[in-house]
Amino acid sequence: MIQKPKGTLDILPSETPLWQTIEDAVREVTSKYGFAEIKFPTFEQSALFKRGVGGTTDIVQKEMFTMDDRDGNELCLRPEGTACVVRSVIENGLYNEPMPLKLYYFTNFFRYEKPQAGRSREFFQFGLEMFGTSKASADATVISVADTLFKKLGVNARLNINSIGCPNCRPNYHKALVEYFSSHEEELCDTCKERLKTNPLRILDCKSPICGALCDNAPKTIEHLCPECDEHFEELKGALEAMGIEYSINPRIVRGLDYYTRTVFEFISDDIGAQSTVCGGGRYDGLVKELDGPDLCGIGFGLGITRLVLAIKKNAQDKGISLPENEKPLIYIAPMGKEAEKCAIGLVHKLRCAGVAAECDITGRSLKAQMKYADKIGAKYAAVIGDNELSEGKCELKDLRLGEKKTVAIEELALIKE
Ligand code: ATP
Ligand code: MG
Repeated sequence: MIQKPKGTLDILPSETPLWQTIEDAVREVTSKYGFAEIKFPTFEQSALFKRGVGGTTDIVQKEMFTMDDRDGNELCLRPEGTACVVRSVIENGLYNEPMPLKLYYFTNFFRYEKPQAGRSREFFQFGLEMFGTSKASADATVISVADTLFKKLGVNARLNINSIGCPNCRPNYHKALVEYFSSHEEELCDTCKERLKTNPLRILDCKSPICGALCDNAPKTIEHLCPECDEHFEELKGALEAMGIEYSINPRIVRGLDYYTRTVFEFISDDIGAQSTVCGGGRYDGLVKELDGPDLCGIGFGLGITRLVLAIKKNAQDKGISLPENEKPLIYIAPMGKEAEKCAIGLVHKLRCAGVAAECDITGRSLKAQMKYADKIGAKYAAVIGDNELSEGKCELKDLRLGEKKTVAIEELALIKE
């Protein structure tokens, strides 16, 4: 039997209602904040991510699904959304729209990673990008969208924030960091020994416990900010406080790329095991220019839906809340005989067109099997229509939950509402 590729997920019908609930919540929340949806290709030129995510990141170094097209171009399945959105903004001239430009996406991404709980090779993200304002109130607004969504979905997620400064203050910090880690070089993991040369900021992001312990005592970005960045960070904290959004400052949150600036943040859930970061984001004031666009600042986040699903399920389990289910039919019509079948299919069609979930037999089952099926699919009512019922124009409507029966006119079945 052919199985799905390693690290991909089947999301089965029992689980899709929860996914739909999440997507509905995303659409509702984003629209209240004035974000419009953007869609972009499933694959892009690899060069977009090499430049737009950065050559020293895990994504570009090990995680891209690349392929050559027949014209010799290197393409890759999108590993993340920010570079795609920025490309589209530049290519379509969206920078001419009134600012701030507020966009969101809800789609799948691909990364060649070691699959485990909360980490797959194809995964889904809801992401936001806001362009054209460098004010800290914009950062706080972006953060508040994720916070509102978590609250709406009953997810406990702790907000951690940090500031990684700007091209003015970064060199000073860089120097302090390299000095510190150089004196501990032997203790670093092999990857971080390499990072020390290529991108020392990313050491702070290392998941190994030994590097982690070293990071705890490493110089902190927020202690090396220039006055402008310091003020920006203070404004961010003030705006979050004004909105009543709780946060902790976590000096280990970084985005290791030159064009990420100032605000970086993560939402962490303690309910979902080791892969606990549900949402990660930050400001990227240099990225649009880096990708040959105008000098347009931006801020955004990516929120992992698979991890969000785990958090919602855990919360529901702890609190005894039931998860969303597929809609159950209001009525099941069981026909007996050719004429009754025609009548039943006409009735359910009318009901469905009027927005009522209705079912009738389309398998040729026995009456007994039909009633069993009606029960299994959770229909609220059932009606049996046979020759007698047809000639009298009346049938029995049974409430399957209460077991009560009443006689109704057959045409009335098409009008049933609840
Ligand atoms: P991690 O440190 O967990 O690898 P990341 O920094 O690579 O995360 P981002 O690129 O910031 O992740 O993506 C934002 C969010 O998307 C993550 O916080 C996570 O919830 C989700 N995510 C990222 N990679 C995966 C994956 N392979 N499988 C499932 N969800 C993922
Ligand atoms: Mg990753």
